[in-house]
Amino acid sequence: MKYEAVIGLEVHAQVFTESKIFCGCSTKFGQSPNSQTCPICLGHPGVLPVLNRKVVEQGIRIGLATHCKIAPYARFARKNYFYPDLPKGYQISMYELPLAEHGTVEIAVGDKMRQIGLTRIHMEEDAGKNLHEGIEAASHVDLNRAGVPLLEIVSEPDLRTPEEAVAYLKKLRAILVYTGVSDADMEKGNFRCDANVSLRPVGTEKFGTRAEIKNMNSFRFVQKAIEYEIARQEKILEEGGRSFRRPGFGMPRAE
Ligand code: ADP
Ligand code: MG
Ligand code: ZN
Repeated sequence: MKYEAVIGLEVHAQVFTESKIFCGCSTKFGQSPNSQTCPICLGHPGVLPVLNRKVVEQGIRIGLATHCKIAPYARFARKNYFYPDLPKGYQISMYELPLAEHGTVEIAVGDKMRQIGLTRIHMEEDAGKNLHEGIEAASHVDLNRAGVPLLEIVSEPDLRTPEEAVAYLKKLRAILVYTGVSDADMEKGNFRCDANVSLRPVGTEKFGTRAEIKNMNSFRFVQKAIEYEIARQEKILEEGGRSFRRPGFGMPRAE
């Protein structure tokens, strides 16, 4: 192949806690919709979120286990977006001052060992869940998951093959489980991954245009999605294109 893939992964792992990140509601999975909510996680105005100490401890623990520098001072930020599963209209996350930075995760593929850089680890709250199935002409929202603690773990674009990406995810998952930070149960969505993929001609430095494949919860899906994306982008580059966008995608529609 003339091209080399450049892959960076973002992982969302649910932190193993009894209660949510900013209120005392239970994080127990599979309860009846909206039974585990309060004015704080429902996003009522005038409420006071109080940070769950356990989430900070677990975040620091995974930061140390991945050789990160732990921030002496971190800060939460509001990430504004509009979606029905987000009652406040913003997610409480971290932006300029994350909890931990500059870590590494060692992976082995075949007999080759590689150090994969970790850009950052930050704490944030999960959103609720829109329910569509079995409901006629309407959608419902379950906010039991709103405010459940997550750690977002972002890798450097150091991965080069789908196999390395899967090896990295398996290693990171093992570290989360071993340290007791997360059960990382993929079927429950407690460990999910966004894959950023771009191609560049072999031997060049400059990164190509990336596409981001979001919210995957199986190693096999990640492998297949990256393989598909590499083939798709190779075709575009061969045809003289450079952007991952389909014509009209993401642009105002001419009607
Ligand atoms: P965003 O919120 O825009 O996705 P993040 O910083 O959270 O930004 O994540 C970006 C991810 O994409 C990181 O894992 C990074 O390593 C990866 N990345 C950045 N540029 C490229 C690129 N050109 N090709 C592949 N991956 C990339
Ligand atoms: Mg992203
Ligand atoms: Zn609550």
